Amino acid sequence: DNQYNYDYDLLYKLVLIGDSGVGKSNLLSRYSNNDFQINSKSTIGVEFATKAVKVDGKIIKAQIWDTAGQERYRAITKAYYRGAVGALIVYDITNTKTYENCSDWLNILSTNLENNDIVIGLIGNKKDLQHQRSVPIEEAQEFARNNQLLFTETSALSNENVEKAFTQLITTIYENSK
Ligand code: GDP
Ligand code: MG
Repeated sequence: DNQYNYDYDLLYKLVLIGDSGVGKSNLLSRYSNNDFQINSKSTIGVEFATKAVKVDGKIIKAQIWDTAGQERYRAITKAYYRGAVGALIVYDITNTKTYENCSDWLNILSTNLENNDIVIGLIGNKKDLQHQRSVPIEEAQEFARNNQLLFTETSALSNENVEKAFTQLITTIYENSK
């Protein structure tokens, strides 16, 4: 998986946002496996992991940023968003509040972006907890459609659709940039 990490054609910065506890960090570690890095810039308080993927014969290095808990206070700095070409807004399908807050996250994202050429995906995580579901999939799909967001339900726990969600985001960014 990581054999492409040393050389690449394109570098994409992607950011993870959404309420605390929805599974952002687990999605990232699931996707990036053992390629997890703790960023030394502790003043910013972010971590990132990288993963290289091949799209259309090109090696794209995705640098995926995760918060170190600042989302709890909505205190993510502008530096976190700077230069991002993709974002995943994550909620927990068993927690309605985290879903309702996605429109706030969408606003926060747009106020922090200098460049509006960003592809955004909505992620309903904890898909494995079907018996505790409180957010209907149809409702989230409609919200995504109305806001031109990609949409996937995932489980970081069972590893369902995790790769698909990231790949879809990366592929869409690539296609849009052609
Ligand atoms: P973050 O605050 O958004 O980074 O969320 P974390 O990745 O730290 O996860 C918060 C909690 O949710 C942890 O207890 C995880 O084990 C749990 N969790 C994360 N993803 C899933 C999932 O897909 N399914 C289930 N059942 N639990 C999950
Ligand atoms: Mg986290």
